[in-house]
Amino acid sequence: MQVAQPVVGVLALQGAFAAHELALAEAGARPTQVRTPADLARVDALVMPGGESTTMSKLLETSGLFDEIKARLSEGMPVFGTCAGMILLATDVRDGRPDQRSFGAIDIAVQRNGYGRQVDSFETDIHVEGEDVPFHAVFIRAPKVVSVGPAVEVLAVHEDVPVLACQGAVMVASFHPELAGDARLHHRFLHHHLRRG
Ligand code: GLN
Repeated sequence: MQVAQPVVGVLALQGAFAAHELALAEAGARPTQVRTPADLARVDALVMPGGESTTMSKLLETSGLFDEIKARLSEGMPVFGTCAGMILLATDVRDGRPDQRSFGAIDIAVQRNGYGRQVDSFETDIHVEGEDVPFHAVFIRAPKVVSVGPAVEVLAVHEDVPVLACQGAVMVASFHPELAGDARLHHRFLHHHLRRG
């Protein structure tokens, strides 16, 4: 897909969606909030923000968005999931609620709140594949990646644990890239993944 100024939806059911809109605009996209299937129909790509994945899972069902997003993902819609958004896209969610659903769009196992209570929020600079300047990563009760499948490309690690990865048109981060005041990862999503989609 080659779109001059792609319309990129930000799932706005709950959580940290406003800062994503700013970062997407800075990266050259036209951001729009997605709350309904009609909103989804207008977008070229989607960002799933941080927040509470259990709540988002519920709201995805009640809004009718779950099945619609699932269908778009199977058609190759590019998606960038951050923190809770990463959990929603994973194939395997550990320590989730029993009724919590995920899209299984990227072959990773994640443990919710996997960085533990002592350091449930922290910030650190990480090296991202292909970038010369480190990226300031903000982790907030972040999921920890516990395994990745062979089709997954790891783009950054923190203490040997993958924190940024992609598979086809799906990109995920366990941190909050929208809080860094640095739109490079949104730019990367638009320019690498949207074209592959
Ligand atoms: N711990 C949250 C969850 O399980 C994710 C935290 C976040 O998105 N900042 O959904």
